[in-house]
Amino acid sequence: MSSKPANTSSTGHNPAAIPTEPFAHKQFIRVAIPSPLRQLFDYLPPDSYPAHGICPGSRVVVPFGPRQVVAIVLSIEPDTDIPTSKLKTVISVLDNEPLLPNDIIHLCQWAARYYHHSLGETLAQAMPKNLRLGKPASYGAIPFWNCIAELDSELQNQLKRSKKQLAALELISSYPQGISATELHELGFSKSTLKELSKKGLICSRNVEPSALPFTDITNPLKAAHLKLNEEQAFACEAITDGLENYRTYLLEGVTGSGKTEVYLQAISAALSEGKQTLVLVPEIGLTPQTVRRFRDRFNVPVACLHSGLSDGERLQGWLEAARGSAGILISTRSGIFTPMPHLGLIIVDEEHDGSYKQQESLRYNARDLAIYRGRQRQCPVVLGSATPSLESLHNTHQGKYTQLHLKQRAGNARPPVMELLDLRHQVLRDGLSTELLQRMAAHLGRGNQVMVFLNRRGYAPSMICQDCGNIIDCPHCDAHMTIHRYPPHMHCHHCDLQQAIPWQCTSCQSRKLQPVGQGTERTEQVLSQHFADYPVLRIDRDTTRRKQALSDMLEEVQSGKACILLGTQMLAKGHHFPDVTLVAIINADAGLFSADFRGPERTGQLIMQVAGRAGRGDKPGQVIIQTYNPEHPALQLLSMNDYSRFTNNLFIERKQLNLPPEGYLTLIRSESVNQNESEVLLSALRQYAEQSGLQQLDNSLRILGPIPAPMEKRQGRYRWHLLIHGKNRNHLHSLVGRVVSYLESHRLPRQLKWTVDIDPQEMS
Ligand code: ADP
Ligand code: ZN
Ligand code: ZN
Repeated sequence: MSSKPANTSSTGHNPAAIPTEPFAHKQFIRVAIPSPLRQLFDYLPPDSYPAHGICPGSRVVVPFGPRQVVAIVLSIEPDTDIPTSKLKTVISVLDNEPLLPNDIIHLCQWAARYYHHSLGETLAQAMPKNLRLGKPASYGAIPFWNCIAELDSELQNQLKRSKKQLAALELISSYPQGISATELHELGFSKSTLKELSKKGLICSRNVEPSALPFTDITNPLKAAHLKLNEEQAFACEAITDGLENYRTYLLEGVTGSGKTEVYLQAISAALSEGKQTLVLVPEIGLTPQTVRRFRDRFNVPVACLHSGLSDGERLQGWLEAARGSAGILISTRSGIFTPMPHLGLIIVDEEHDGSYKQQESLRYNARDLAIYRGRQRQCPVVLGSATPSLESLHNTHQGKYTQLHLKQRAGNARPPVMELLDLRHQVLRDGLSTELLQRMAAHLGRGNQVMVFLNRRGYAPSMICQDCGNIIDCPHCDAHMTIHRYPPHMHCHHCDLQQAIPWQCTSCQSRKLQPVGQGTERTEQVLSQHFADYPVLRIDRDTTRRKQALSDMLEEVQSGKACILLGTQMLAKGHHFPDVTLVAIINADAGLFSADFRGPERTGQLIMQVAGRAGRGDKPGQVIIQTYNPEHPALQLLSMNDYSRFTNNLFIERKQLNLPPEGYLTLIRSESVNQNESEVLLSALRQYAEQSGLQQLDNSLRILGPIPAPMEKRQGRYRWHLLIHGKNRNHLHSLVGRVVSYLESHRLPRQLKWTVDIDPQEMS
């Protein structure tokens, strides 16, 4: 950084500062500003506003360079080391009570330190967009819908053709006091569906101020009776609820369909009856309407919700309901970890192994790891649930840091799926599907069951090759092939989003013999639709679910139970409960086993187990077929025996040999530039500087690897390089990273040369 902007204060308090000005009795507002600068700034209070009337945790608008920004007040200081003449004045005060309570500020301070990030940006992350933009911390009245018609068989018949409207009407009529537009939206009903129903005179809305009643005022929190827990579930639930007053992390390892959610619900019930709120974190895509509905069907207390499918206004509403204690439960994707909850008494992280808990930009936090910090901070239990726990969490249980709880049986009547490896080496393939698989699918469909086909690759085909010269059409900006899409027809780079027309001749030899190679979901959909003309094929991937309602419409069709084929990417793997799926086919299991990322095998194993877990969740038994060219591969062998624990034990041995997490800790410094050598040069200098620090002499487990090119060196026209720092002792590692960061911050770098620090990286890309 070149010159310090005015108003700069040293981070934290500087005891050496001498109050020189005659105005030393005046008070100063110390704020955090959403900028990459890792420091705090001091301002004068506005004339009309005594400093002591401004409280820490509230938002103020301040001048910052040429801009005005929304900042968070951290403290009121008697002194500042900036001359008063250089101090600027707060423009306006947005909150007259703290918006962010102390515990959230502490959480953010800790996260900023741990991830070596600016506190101002970290605090900005903690707020929903509307608050970040300086909008008022309140929400207006929202429409509540009531059913005004009698939902008899005649009406049901009338609406037979508009399934969505009928479903909405059925739902609305089950709420005699009305149901809010927000909730309906969260459950997958669009504005247009409601408009149609209201045009037909079947429902009407009135605007209601959302309840500001604390959830604790609701005398009977339970709406529907709990299920009777089986022995394993009861044991787990008791363990968790026995210790509601203390911090403890539980790893609830329950096979798919073992009733983890039922354990959560009953633990939440215990928390509610002690007047405590629960935070439930769910993966990005896992937040299906069904999940939310399951919680709302069980409890009378308001369930707030935060996820990317909601509007900014709806997110603000959810955030405020949790922050003001009117919601008893908050269900949220990763950012919910920063939501204030005054009565927080239980934290649940569902599918804790899921990659979406890690943010891959800006503040690269892992919400699961912050959940542990928050549990300790609030002295409440944290439950990490998964059928396929991460190696990190398993390692922590082996070390006695977490308590492991097992659910080994599927709940109710469901039995574990039977898994089978289908050797592709002796099979005739039709666009990636073996004859044997097609026959088995036909048998399941013929019995009126549903079949799920999993392929983790969208588009029509992953590459286009020239049959004359072997040239493959590559993205001009990335070290990657262009994917062919048919609907609509175009070439698409999945790494930089470049889209082009499909070429009609080879760019290298001008031959016209261009051939798509490999399978994507579009191509598989085409084959399946032709082969199984009598059954609908529902393709669920990022391309078919761009429209907001599309996913919930398709899921509804699956829930109807009719025989069909569900085809999709990992969007299908997570959390869904499809009781009529009896066969799951994984058509290309080999792809992830040989990936460049050391977590590749772990992720593939988790994905296979999760996909397989969609089979046989109802009363009908389930079967899983895994197509592979490597049936002897030890990982596939163990997975096909449903033996996740032996599978992970092998991975532990490998990681230990290679000194990779959870053996020790890792930090990844990334650098990228449009110029080819710049990143490497920067990282080499960084390495040298780090080696001179002498820290490695103090702790010989500290190792620096690289610089090495990223697995995809060129992406979006930038050359990307990595420097890895590994250490057995977290504190020592962080000291070294701290030095590296201050080196990077104190050097003026060319504008196009960017660097980032990734603590506990999840992806080595
Ligand atoms: P998981 O979250 O472990 O995948 P779920 O909680 O979704 O599993 O449970 C799977 C199915 O089993 C659900 O339909 C659920 O209602 C049912 N279930 C869970 N616990 C019980 C129980 N104790 N008795 C009967 N059915 C149960
Ligand atoms: Zn060619
Ligand atoms: Zn590209």
